[in-house]
Amino acid sequence: MALTLYNTLTRKQEEFKALGDEVRIYTCGLTVQSEPHVGHIRAALVRDILMRWLGYLGYKVMALENFTDVDDKIIEKQKELGLDWRMIAQKHIDTYLWACDKLHIQRAAFYPRASQHIEEIIELVEKLIQKGFAYEKEGDVYFRVRKFPDYGRLSKKSIDDLMAGARIEPAEAKDDPLDFALWKAAKPGEPYWLSPWGKGRPGWHIECSAMSMRYLGETFDIHTGGEDLVFPHHENEIAQSIAATGKPFARYWLHNGWVTLTGEKMSKSTGHYSPIREVLENYSPNVVRLFMLKTHYRKQLEYAQARLDEARAAYATIRTFLDRYGEIPAVPKPLMLEEFTSAMDDDLNTSKALGVIYELINKGYQTDDTKCAASVVSYCSLLGFDIGTKKDESDESIEVLTKIIVEVKNKLQKDKRDDMVGAIEHDESAILEGLRKKSALNPRLIGLLLDIRNRFRKESNYGFADYIRNRLLEHEIIVDDQGLDKSTYHVEVK
Ligand SMILES: [Zn+2]
Repeated sequence: MALTLYNTLTRKQEEFKALGDEVRIYTCGLTVQSEPHVGHIRAALVRDILMRWLGYLGYKVMALENFTDVDDKIIEKQKELGLDWRMIAQKHIDTYLWACDKLHIQRAAFYPRASQHIEEIIELVEKLIQKGFAYEKEGDVYFRVRKFPDYGRLSKKSIDDLMAGARIEPAEAKDDPLDFALWKAAKPGEPYWLSPWGKGRPGWHIECSAMSMRYLGETFDIHTGGEDLVFPHHENEIAQSIAATGKPFARYWLHNGWVTLTGEKMSKSTGHYSPIREVLENYSPNVVRLFMLKTHYRKQLEYAQARLDEARAAYATIRTFLDRYGEIPAVPKPLMLEEFTSAMDDDLNTSKALGVIYELINKGYQTDDTKCAASVVSYCSLLGFDIGTKKDESDESIEVLTKIIVEVKNKLQKDKRDDMVGAIEHDESAILEGLRKKSALNPRLIGLLLDIRNRFRKESNYGFADYIRNRLLEHEIIVDDQGLDKSTYHVEVK
C-alpha cells in the first residue's frame, strides 16, 4: 500500500505523489500575539509526524513554517502592553521553539516571518494589481474575489453563501463586501513599511503566498495547518497565488482538528486555552506526544487532565516493558511491519500505529521474544518518542555520518567529480543546521549519501557505490535498493 492522505481540496483520501525528489511542505504557523498553546503544538506535531513518515518512506523533505509577526492582533497587544511589537513577537517565538524542541518536534528548514518578507509581498501585490485581480483604495489594496472563478473550492462555499455573511466595515473603502485586504494603510502609531500605495503593512493572507513561493516554488506538495484556517485564510492563499502565477498552488491540503478545552475550541483571542509551557511543567514530552498521537490528527482533541493522566499511564506501559531489557538486540526488520506501515500509510493513523506497539508489548510479555522489544524501540522512534535506550546515540551517529560525508567528498574531489561535490555542498547548510539539531538530521544525511550512491550506480560505477553502502553498513544502516533510482534504508536496532 502506498501513502494516502486526506486532501481537504478534494475531500478525499488520495494516494500521495510527490512533485519532485524533495517533498515540499508549508505549514501556517503561529500568530505571535500571545503565548503558544496546545493547539499550536498539535499543528507542529502533525508536520513532524508527516516529515518523519515521509523520511521513513525514503523521501527528502523540505518544510517551511511561518510566523505571522505583524498583524492587527499584535498591533493591539502593542497598544495594550506598551511594548514594541517585535519584542512581543520574539518572546512568543522563543517559547514556541523551546516547546517544539522539548517535544522532539523536528524543526522546519526555515521559519520565515512576515515582517522580513515585505519586498516579496509588495511584488506579489503589484503583480495582482497588474493582472486586474487587485485594486488600491485610499492606501489599502484589496483582492477582487469575484474575478477568481474558483473561489470557495477549498472551503466548499459558494459566492451566495459568502455574500450572506459579508459586510464592509466603516473604515474600509472596498468595492465589494467579499473582497479581502492584501495591503493595509497604516494608522497613526502603527508599524509601517513604504510601498507604492503609501505607508502600510501586509494583510494576513498574502504573506503565506509570498513566502511559500519564495522558498518552495509556485507549486508545491503539501500545505498543512489547523482546520480553522480553511476559511478564509487558506481559501485566500489559493486565490491570490493562482491568480498571480496561473499555476496550481499546493497540491495536498492537510488540516488538523481543533484542540478543545471543556468542549470548546482553544483560542488565544478568547483566552480559552492551556499554554504549552504550563503543560510541560506537569507532563513529560513523551506523555504529551502520546496524548496527541492517540487521536487521529483530523479529529478534535479534547484537552483534559484526565486524558493526560491516561497518556501518562499508557507511556509508563511502554517504558516498563522496555526497562526489562538492558541491551535490546537488533532486528533487521521489525515485527508487524505491515500492520504498522499500513496504519501510517492510512492518512497517518497514529492511533492505529500505537495499537501495533501495544500488541507487540503484549506479545513480548507472553513470549519473552526480544524481537518484540526491538520492534517497539523502532516504532517508538519512528513516531518521534525520545526513548533514549542509548543516551548519546544521536550525537554518535551524527559524528559518524558527518565523517562519511567528508570522506566521500574528499574521494570525489580526488576523482575530479565536481558535479557531485557540488551536490554535497548544496546540502551543506542543511547539514550544519542539522548538526545543531542532531537527531533531526539523520534521514537527510543518509538521503544525501543514497542520492550520490544512486548517481554512481546509474553510471555503473559500482566500486564507489559499494563503498558508500559498506560504510553505512558498518554503522547498522542497511540500504535497500528498489530499482536504479530509488533506495531506502533501515537502521538495525542495537
Ligand atoms: Zn498561512
